[in-house]
Amino acid sequence: MGQDGRKNGVSDHAMKTIGLLGGMTWESTELYYRWINQGIKQRLGELNSAKIVLVSVNFQEINALQHRGDWAEAGRVLIESAQKVERAGADFLLICTNTMHKVAEQVEAVIQIPLLHLADITAQRIIQHEMRTVGLLGTKFTMQQDFYRARLENYGLNVIVPSEADQEKVHRIIYQELALGIVKDQSRNEYLRIVDGMRNEGAEGVIEGCTEIVMLLQQEHTNIPLFDTTAIHAEAAVNHAVS
Ligand code: GLU
Repeated sequence: MGQDGRKNGVSDHAMKTIGLLGGMTWESTELYYRWINQGIKQRLGELNSAKIVLVSVNFQEINALQHRGDWAEAGRVLIESAQKVERAGADFLLICTNTMHKVAEQVEAVIQIPLLHLADITAQRIIQHEMRTVGLLGTKFTMQQDFYRARLENYGLNVIVPSEADQEKVHRIIYQELALGIVKDQSRNEYLRIVDGMRNEGAEGVIEGCTEIVMLLQQEHTNIPLFDTTAIHAEAAVNHAVS
């Protein structure tokens, strides 16, 4: 360790400030905050912690806009919040939710700092694992709409989603349980049944494409590889901050 606090070739001066657009929901933003700091500690040691600018929105408002399909207004809220993150000195931005990547391009268009797009980072991770066909769990918006699926498919991945009835169940458990911090064994069993169904259809791994799903379903619960987007995104932020 040098006198400037340098370890593993990174000085504090070189560490970038991570911008987080969170609160969607705060249950998962809390995980981002914890895992990013743990990652920095692991990389740099001692008392090193992440430089973070966090703007956290009111999810009640976002949820209402999503469910009435007012993505323009939801986009406006996210743009305003992203600009606050940028003005506060962040070097790059993470939108801490899969679903709200629906408006990622609008956000990206008005900020000068780079956006670490969650679908890109997840797709790259899957490819590193040499998989081609993956199941996708997330909100109905994420499972059904092109802003996420097509982005994965652009990397040459085949994406399997649950049946419509099962998509309803996955969606309901996210908004009525996980987003409220409620974790039920019965819901985990539902998810495991749905994961098995996608495995039977050929999925080699499953994307936990909603940042709260890791609260319910972890790798210890199944032997099919899970791609937890919260952990993947947090790790990418750490790598980018110290690169
Ligand atoms: N955090 C969730 C996601 O990753 C759902 C909450 C939201 O709709 O933003 O999609």
